[in-house]
Amino acid sequence: MATMEKARRRTTASSLCAICNQNKAALKRPKTAQQICRECFYSVFEDEIHNVITENNLFKSGERVAIGASGGKDSTVLAYVLSKLNHVHNYGVEFFLLSIDEGISGYRDDSLETVKRNEIQYGLPLKIVSYKDLYGWTMDEIVKAIGLKNNCTFCGVFRRQALDRGASLLKVDKLVTGHNADDIAETVLLNILRGDIARLGRCTYITTGIYSPNAYRGFAREFIKDLERIRPRAILDIIKSGENFRIATSTKMPEQGTCERCGYISSQEWCKACVLLDGLNRGLPKLGIGRTKTINGGGGSGGVKPGTKSRLSNVGMKESRTRSRQYSGSVDF
Ligand SMILES: [Zn+2]
Ligand SMILES: [Zn+2]
Repeated sequence: MATMEKARRRTTASSLCAICNQNKAALKRPKTAQQICRECFYSVFEDEIHNVITENNLFKSGERVAIGASGGKDSTVLAYVLSKLNHVHNYGVEFFLLSIDEGISGYRDDSLETVKRNEIQYGLPLKIVSYKDLYGWTMDEIVKAIGLKNNCTFCGVFRRQALDRGASLLKVDKLVTGHNADDIAETVLLNILRGDIARLGRCTYITTGIYSPNAYRGFAREFIKDLERIRPRAILDIIKSGENFRIATSTKMPEQGTCERCGYISSQEWCKACVLLDGLNRGLPKLGIGRTKTINGGGGSGGVKPGTKSRLSNVGMKESRTRSRQYSGSVDF
């Protein structure tokens, strides 16, 4: 048994790339179960993204497009691929990196350094928009006003809106954000567990990147990793199941309104951020937090539903749901 296992490992390690048949395979692609080399992985990965972009007409020549840049892996890969494809295939898009500085002393130093490196490496201009620009308050100032206990509410709400608000501040046509398949699959699973059909329908093409802290996500993550061990395609299958679910329920989707104050997508008159800001500016920072009724009649934390907004609609882009669906549905690894 042990010898067999060793032999199997040896053949796996020394097998040739299934695409070029020249280099040694470096990884097994979950999507196809093919053993391929590094170079071939890059090239199929980039080709597939290019195909999704062209098939769905995601960009037009002359457009200004912001890439949400956090300094993390997902957004770094996105910046790299888009700037490369833009050059190779002449999209004629004016890409730039959009970073948010929350104004927490010390907190963004490392990630902003990474983003600044990306700016140089990929030749993309960098725009850093601060919470001060967006909301008139830095996160440090908010914490000072509200104390450490409740600032998570602000953090979550303000972060969820920051990229969209930053994008509209910079008057871009579109905003793109990078997410990995694991995170999207987790979100699908969480929405199934919560029985949140409306959100399930949206989560495969809209992901906020920041989630309110909850214990379930940890479980979902572990569960997905276990599934993947048994069946490498499991992550992609879960994402697909989320997409299929949406199609079946799309006719019953509630319509999203916009905030009267800032124009951000909101199910209430005022979005949650505007409610919180109003409280802050009036010296009543606890307004809108917890279970007390919010001034716009929304019941406490239900004032705005996290993750229910479209990344693209807030920056003046008329993006049809069908197109968004195809977009996210086809990008996989
Ligand atoms: Zn190869
Ligand atoms: Zn608002």
